[in-house]
Amino acid sequence: MAKLPNVVPTQTTRELLRIVRAAQPIPRVAVARRLGVHRRRITVLVKPLLDSGVLREGTPEQSARRVGRPPIGLSLRAENHFLVGVNLGVSQTQVGGATVDGRVIFEETFETPRDPETAIAQIRSSIHRHQRDLPDRELTVVGISVAGPTDADEGRLLYAPHQGWRDVPVAKMLGLKVPVIVENNATAAAIYELQRRRHRGATRTAGDFVLVRAGTGIGVGLVVGGEVFRGATDIAGEFGHMTIVAGGKSCPCGNLGCWERYASAASAVELYRGETNRARHNSPLRFIDLVARANAGERRAQVTLDRAGTHLGIGIGNVICGLGVPHVILSGDLVHGWKFIEAPARTAIARSLCGRLSEWSLVAGETHGSELGGALEVAIEHYLLTV
Ligand SMILES: [Zn+2]
Repeated sequence: MAKLPNVVPTQTTRELLRIVRAAQPIPRVAVARRLGVHRRRITVLVKPLLDSGVLREGTPEQSARRVGRPPIGLSLRAENHFLVGVNLGVSQTQVGGATVDGRVIFEETFETPRDPETAIAQIRSSIHRHQRDLPDRELTVVGISVAGPTDADEGRLLYAPHQGWRDVPVAKMLGLKVPVIVENNATAAAIYELQRRRHRGATRTAGDFVLVRAGTGIGVGLVVGGEVFRGATDIAGEFGHMTIVAGGKSCPCGNLGCWERYASAASAVELYRGETNRARHNSPLRFIDLVARANAGERRAQVTLDRAGTHLGIGIGNVICGLGVPHVILSGDLVHGWKFIEAPARTAIARSLCGRLSEWSLVAGETHGSELGGALEVAIEHYLLTV
């Protein structure tokens, strides 16, 4: 197959930077091995990155730490820049800063305001405040994860059903002088998971996977060939709003019987509360409280989680059939109930046609760590893509 010379080096450079970031300081020979190219090719790829100050090779600190021959390794130069990640959640928002090699340097959390104008104003003032605190570092990119489909390149949130926000030009409203990437939170979580796999030594062959993020709602992120897949219309992954029950529960998106109304953490709490004494509804019950009750042996809590697990598995069976990607990672709040939802979910997947035809896997991922982490990964990925 013919390869376009102006495309391949860019992809290879990007992959090289990802490898360096995951394993720095890393000797050239190790980069060559993981990248699957000849050492001489690494020399050609690395030179412009060293010249432009993106990478450095070996440091005095590293030499001092070792006795004998100092390690000469490639690292990202992280001292002059920082990136910001913002997880704009339905109830809470986290703003965090990190160096380009992923070290978190500040983090703050606040309740997400009801309207997008106030929320974005608050995010803007948080970023400005931290910029003033870091006069020696230049902000290079902001990554924002949101609970809904986005136009990532335009920096636009298309729709956030749980917040009732439609068509919010987040990047434009922020008015910063740096690129602002707005990404769906399930896709951000998938990018985060991909990075974790690279840290464990995987490269482009890390494998394709589907990340199902179940919290207030359900979002799906898809990784194919070591890259996230967004589809032609930026709305790939909105499986949370596929109908699984005809004429079922009404969804904030306007549809009836959406998957997330039966298998999200919030839907499990709602189901449980609907079956308990309504007089006690004033006390806010969280999903982890429901799991605690199931752990304490409360039958009704266990049955609720079992039902959520079955619905989760039904939806995952559909996702596997639809995408042909059989490796699934569950992420988000629902993971807290893994002990109770795993078996019914597996039973439901195994019952589906694709579950019987192909090998599949379902594993538990992060409960919440991907929230800010995912947004920061979006920023770092953009940095590595554009340097
Ligand atoms: Zn819906």
